[in-house]
Amino acid sequence: MTGHQPIQGDVIVTLDGPAGTGKSTVARLLAGRLGLEFLDTGAMYRAAAAITLDRGIDLADTQTILTVVADADLHFDWTQDPPTILAWMNPYNQRIRDPDVTKIVSQIAAIGKLREHMVRKQRLIGQQYPRLVTEGRDQGSVVFPDAEVKFYLDADPAVRAMRRAEQMRLAGNEPPPEAELLHDILLRDSRDSTRKDGPLICPDDAERVDTGPISIDEVVSYLERRVRLRLANRKS
Ligand code: C5P
Repeated sequence: MTGHQPIQGDVIVTLDGPAGTGKSTVARLLAGRLGLEFLDTGAMYRAAAAITLDRGIDLADTQTILTVVADADLHFDWTQDPPTILAWMNPYNQRIRDPDVTKIVSQIAAIGKLREHMVRKQRLIGQQYPRLVTEGRDQGSVVFPDAEVKFYLDADPAVRAMRRAEQMRLAGNEPPPEAELLHDILLRDSRDSTRKDGPLICPDDAERVDTGPISIDEVVSYLERRVRLRLANRKS
């Protein structure tokens, strides 16, 4: 239907960047156009945050968080498009988007041992699905440092706050005032980029793309061209 040719052979494409850059949507659409699988690593940290809240675990009790999250055996149902996240074999994809989860997720994602657990899982997924577009904060820097194509999506925080508000409206929810959204985004940026393990950074070998002035569709088309060009120059 799309007229987009699936690319040949294995390739890992990483997309990192802060909240509200359109990363998830872009990664999912890009994967579709290239005939690759799509991995939303934020869903894994969000699931860990949802479990922590739902089990009433204290955020400071990192050992219990680790034990319970490991017991939940987080994984994806790859028969769904996009793949849904499962905890104890139950779908968690709705719950992980709730505002209380969004509020605490960056605190959960700062737990070093939990990140090690997630990084291991993500690398296993990469072995199982070596034709992958994966998005998050540390995909090009930590999880897949040897990925063939890396992007870092960015946008002005005010633009990102506006996009979040629009997303909430589309999902049928009344967004909080934009100043509050902006505050939450800046707080999450700061927590994500200042943590010790797997901080949000633009890897040296990633191409930085400002998604502020262009539409999601234009971003996807641009990245698609860049990936195809890069792979056309493959030596093999
Ligand atoms: O991308 P999304 O907004 O769903 O990510 C939620 C949170 O999960 C981020 O703010 C970040 O704290 C954490 N995260 C992370 N590393 C990733 C993906 C997400 O720390 N690879």
